[in-house]
Amino acid sequence: MNYYWGMIVKIMNEKLIYEAGEFLKKAKYPIVLSGAGVSADSGIPTFRNSDSLSTKASYFGYYKNFINDPKLWWEDQLDTNKNEQRTKFRNSVEQAIPNQSHYAIAELELNNIIKHVITQNVDELHYRAGSKNVIEIHGSRYKCRCVKCEKRFSRESMDISILPPICECGGIIKFDTVLFGEAIPRSVLKNCIDVVSKSDFILVVGTSSLVNPSANFPKYIKKNGGMIVEANINTTPISSIAKIILRGSTSNILPILSDYILKKN
Ligand SMILES: [Zn+2]
Repeated sequence: MNYYWGMIVKIMNEKLIYEAGEFLKKAKYPIVLSGAGVSADSGIPTFRNSDSLSTKASYFGYYKNFINDPKLWWEDQLDTNKNEQRTKFRNSVEQAIPNQSHYAIAELELNNIIKHVITQNVDELHYRAGSKNVIEIHGSRYKCRCVKCEKRFSRESMDISILPPICECGGIIKFDTVLFGEAIPRSVLKNCIDVVSKSDFILVVGTSSLVNPSANFPKYIKKNGGMIVEANINTTPISSIAKIILRGSTSNILPILSDYILKKN
């Protein structure tokens, strides 16, 4: 698969990647929006098949269930035998290591090309690859969050002897990952809007661009006169408004882009 996509990218895309690189070099405030496709080559499922939404919902859970009975929700979440597929998915996240996509994005950020990464992924792989300015719009698998004051805690530090854990502000604490039906935390959304409103170039990588509010970020930037470059294995709703489409696996495309910009080839 990788070799196949590598060849396709090489033959079809190289010129387009360089073209995207020229635009990226000229941009004042380039950002990345990343989704599941970026972590696919790290072995984390992307939920692309037909039952993807219901499968995903069964792994992440519904916010209404948490609100109705936080104690029961916690007990369910901590029970690794309850949902075998969910446990398998979580293990795949926890065992994953960054791939070439994450490293290429981190390298572009460390060289002050990319200013921010907004990711829909909960796996922290951007951080582990070296990125610093990451906004985790759907939270992190490794953290918990108070639903009232939005303070985040490492999951390991959480005292779960009494459920549900309660924050010092009196709010109930849940996993940081955003559940189905749960609003994006206000502070996170504000950070996203700050970054998006400054941006004139967005590299949309490995996301189907179907889930709001992330799906609106590229549209907003384009409306403000900015540019969209998309890297994705599939056609997405963003493809029709992107200036350049780089079709293929992001772990093949992004290193070529990064090497071109940083003059490594
Ligand atoms: Zn709190």
